[in-house]
Amino acid sequence: MDGPGNRFVIFVQGCNFDCAGCHNPYTITDCNHCGLCVRPCPEDALTIEPGPLVVVDRATCTNCDVCIDVCPFDSTPLAYDIAVGDLLEQIRETARFISGITVSGGEATLQSEFVFELFSALKADPELSHLTTFVDSNGSAPRHVWDRLAPVMDGAMIDLKALDDATHVQLTAASNTLVLDSIRHLAGISRLYEVRLLIMPGYNDDDASVDRTVAWLRAVDPGMRVVVIGFRKHGVRKGVEYLTESNPDQMVAIGDRVRSAGFTDVVVV
Ligand code: SF4
Ligand code: SF4
Repeated sequence: MDGPGNRFVIFVQGCNFDCAGCHNPYTITDCNHCGLCVRPCPEDALTIEPGPLVVVDRATCTNCDVCIDVCPFDSTPLAYDIAVGDLLEQIRETARFISGITVSGGEATLQSEFVFELFSALKADPELSHLTTFVDSNGSAPRHVWDRLAPVMDGAMIDLKALDDATHVQLTAASNTLVLDSIRHLAGISRLYEVRLLIMPGYNDDDASVDRTVAWLRAVDPGMRVVVIGFRKHGVRKGVEYLTESNPDQMVAIGDRVRSAGFTDVVVV
């Protein structure tokens, strides 16, 4: 799901979509330091410092996620700033065991200059330059961002939540205009690793929607890798009980439908 092989994955904080089915909802918003998660912490690992600033004592924190569960703003007090140099040293420690780096999120391209600097440093480092560099994205970045990243990025994995724009707005609170353009552009500059079709029952899983989406993708590049992902409720935020999980048999059928349209590199998850 994070790209080919074993990967070091970096989750950046902050996203410009508000997806109903988000599986990392605590990465959507930057922490506003309201302090609501401080008291619920069972380890007293959180304090409010002047600012106000919610600070975590990482030696005490047990990563129980209570603070994430109680945050009403889709955030976490555990996110932190890190310099490219420090991140590079962390990557160096694991370099023998991995094949690449993936920046995910949140939305990775909202911090595109950081991603550019990180990937540039990796490519310039003789010990790390063998690691592939991928971005896992909602596809909302404009072309100039992809063009900036392209010389140092090996591939992008783009989610397509719906081809129909009104449905896309329903599912993500954002238009898909830039997403479709990103898929086209990345395919054109040979930086599209895969498109992920997120199947949400009742929204985009009917045969007509799947066929229209597959036809659109085929027109862009019939050789692209397509990953069909069924919606599961595990890890999603509260308040989306109205969403239905995908049926495994239907997912297999959708995968077959994509293959029958001529795609050969199809994965169903
Ligand atoms: S994950 Fe959050 S709630 Fe749990 S111990 Fe760490 S700071 Fe406290
Ligand atoms: S993580 Fe959420 S609850 Fe905790 S301080 Fe930040 S915004 Fe408030």
